[in-house]
This record gives sequence, C-alpha cells and structure tokens, in this order.
Amino acid sequence: MATRVRFAPSPTGRLHVGNIRSALFNVLFARKTGGKFLLRIDDTDRERSTAAFEAAIKDDLRWLGFDWDETAKQSDRFARYDAAAEKLKAAGRLYACYETPEELERKRKRALASGRPPIYDRTGYNLSAEDRAALEGQGRRPHWRFLLEGRRIQWDDAVRGAVEIDTKTLSDPVLIRADGSYLYTLPSVVDDIELAVSDVIRGEDHVTNTAAQVELIAALGAQPPRFAHLPLLTGVGGEALSKRLGSLGVDQLRAEGIVPLAIAALLARLGTSEPVGPVADFAELVESFDFAKIGRAPAHFDPAELRAVNAKTLHAMPYEKARPHLAAFGAEAGEAVWLAIRDNCETLADAAAWTAILTRPLDPAETGRALTEKAATLLPPGPWSEETWGAWTKAVSAATGKKGKDLFQPLRLALTGRPHGPEMKKLLPLLGLERAKARLEGRAA
Ligand code: GLU
Repeated sequence: MATRVRFAPSPTGRLHVGNIRSALFNVLFARKTGGKFLLRIDDTDRERSTAAFEAAIKDDLRWLGFDWDETAKQSDRFARYDAAAEKLKAAGRLYACYETPEELERKRKRALASGRPPIYDRTGYNLSAEDRAALEGQGRRPHWRFLLEGRRIQWDDAVRGAVEIDTKTLSDPVLIRADGSYLYTLPSVVDDIELAVSDVIRGEDHVTNTAAQVELIAALGAQPPRFAHLPLLTGVGGEALSKRLGSLGVDQLRAEGIVPLAIAALLARLGTSEPVGPVADFAELVESFDFAKIGRAPAHFDPAELRAVNAKTLHAMPYEKARPHLAAFGAEAGEAVWLAIRDNCETLADAAAWTAILTRPLDPAETGRALTEKAATLLPPGPWSEETWGAWTKAVSAATGKKGKDLFQPLRLALTGRPHGPEMKKLLPLLGLERAKARLEGRAA
C-alpha cells in the first residue's frame, strides 16, 4: 500500500514547536517512502477555528518547506460524518446520553471517592425509549457516545513497539455534542479511512485515543492504519513545555532569523539515536530518517540549542542557499559579503546587522565616538581621586544609556589607546583633566 500520511492541525492558533515536529515526521516519512503528505484542516470547532489561522498555518508550512500533496478540510465533509454516525446508530454502536456536565462530574467524583475508576456507567445506553422521550420532554438534548466492546486492542507502534490497551478501562467516548457538533474522534477516523491514510504519525498524547479509534474503525467496516506515536517534547529539565516555549511559533522563529533547515535539523534528531547538529540539506534528514531511531523517552527542547544549530547551519551555508533567506530578511548581500560575515552570524538578524554596517551610514553612537565626546563634557573639575572614575562613568551612563562593556570599553580605549590595562580608577587621576579631556575629544595629548 502506498504511503499516505496526514498532518492534522486545528486552525485555532499558529504552528508551534510541538506540532511542527509532528508535521516534520510526517513529511520525512512521506518523502522517505515516496508517498503522499496530506494536510488536513481539523476545523470542526467552528467557534475557535478561523480562516486567518488556516492561512497562517499554510504559510508556515510552506516557509518550513513542508509542501503537501493534498488538502482536506473537515468543515467540507460534515455529510460524510453524518453518514458514519447514522451507520453507527443503525448498528447500535452510538447511543444517546442526557447527563449535564455537572451530573457527569458528580458521577466521576463519586466513582473516585469509592475507589472505582471514573468510567462512564452507560446510563444512557440503558435508557428505554420512554425514558428518552421523557428526558427530551424536559427539553434535554442528547449527546452521543460510541459503545466500546471492551476488548484488548493491540497494535505494533512504529515508535513504541507492541502496545496493548483494554478498552474496558475507557469510557465510551462522546462523538457528538448536545448541540450536534462533532468532537475530534469521529471526523478524524472517517477521514483517515476515506482519505486512505496508511500511517498515522502523531504525539503520544493520542495513544489512549488510538484504542477507541481502532474499535471505531472496525465498527465502520475498515482496517486500521499503522500508528507511530512520538514521545512528548519537554523542556530541558524534562518538565512539560512551558506555555512560552510550547507556543513558540514559526512566526517568532522566523522573526528571530532562524532558518527552516535548522528547525528541521533539531526537531528531526531530538530524542533520537542520532546526534543533533547542522545538516547540509533536508534530503540528508530524509535519508537518515527511521522510526527505529526514535527513543521512547521525552525529547528535550532547548531554544539555546536551536540557536546553536542555527549558527552552525549558517556558518556552513553556501551563498546560493543563503541568498533567499537574506533577501527575505531584508539583508541582501553579495557572495563576498556573505562569506566574510557568515561565521559571525548566529541568526539572520546578525547578518542583517553586518550588511547594514557595510552598506549604510553608521550612527556615530555605534562607533563609540559620540560616547567619548559626551563623556568629555561630563568630566568633573579637579581635584580627582580614585572615587572620580566611578562617579563620572555613572554620569556618562545616565546621559548615554550605555552600560557595562559598551560603556567602559570605548572610554578605556580613548583614554589609554589600549583595550586592557590597569584599573581605570587608578589611571584616571594620574592622567589628569587636560589630558583626559583632549583624548576623549580625539585630540593628541
Ligand atoms: N487535530 C488533532 C490534533 O491536533 C489531530 C490529531 C491526530 O493526528 O489525529 O490533536
């Protein structure tokens, strides 16, 4: 069977590192096997999905170089989901339930309090036609649950190996809400069947869903695809990705001057048996891709490591590859410029700064000259002591906004002609007002 994989984002936000990684593994596998990569827009949540997020996700995928072969959009396919729901109802596998969220929460708490697992008790399934008519008479609208068979579901996960989950341990999943809208499960399964998806590659947070989905696929008369569940991405210490890191989006990475190849190089190899480092091109990642290399432990994401891989990627990047990135970043440069500056670039922002230094007027504030001239005007009258340097540089800092090295280095250089030397608080009184003033103003003295 030809490989068909899908990446299924919900257009309720931008792509972030977590889902870029899922997309990446789908693309790598599709390219490695010569198969098709499908983009499925999971927009069944009509309230939170927006056309703007859908467009942004597509832009981000194109920028990453993850071009897709086919698109499917769940909001175009409601008739297919309705047909599947009817089929399940006819087979007695989809049943109406009338509990309110508060009632379900009370049941859950009661079960936990008495030491039972909080599994749905199938009250809905056991209602008679009269019970249902009575509840609907009170104005209650049903939500619909899928009747699990309660059996051992096994699959050979490409990442996790043999997985077995007993669906007796699961609540019958709600497929349709009381307002008639679909939760994720049924549309996802119907699409995976009808779009002939061969391999479902996604985060391990979906492992338990998989067991119920396998039952649902069988109930709809189809064969399950193969599954690959990727270990979670965590912070450096193994903690869940913070909101800030977890939501680090393509837009931010792009604005920082990170190149797509560095993102792919890092995310493809994090948590695998291959060392993380720069690669020459995407084909190298495709070539070395193998599910067997992915470890079971969480992969640690560190933005500092991403910058380091980005730096090494830029240092080795030939001009013809760098050129479009430079242009997109507003840092057009010729080949000689690129080759001269690339070793000093961690990001494209550094490249932009260097091309600006070479091609645009330089603000005197940046050369240190403006600073020393201002400093000259702030020199206090004598007599000077070892306290003078501290008081004076504090005043210079207040007047110029410069601090630390940016403040002390140009002053030391102007006053002594050398970048290093004895303590300035000792040297300044020895130089004296006239000599110090002249040197700060660039006059021989
Ligand atoms: N839209 C789902 C999600 O983002 C897709 C999950 C899946 O790959 O099945 O979680």
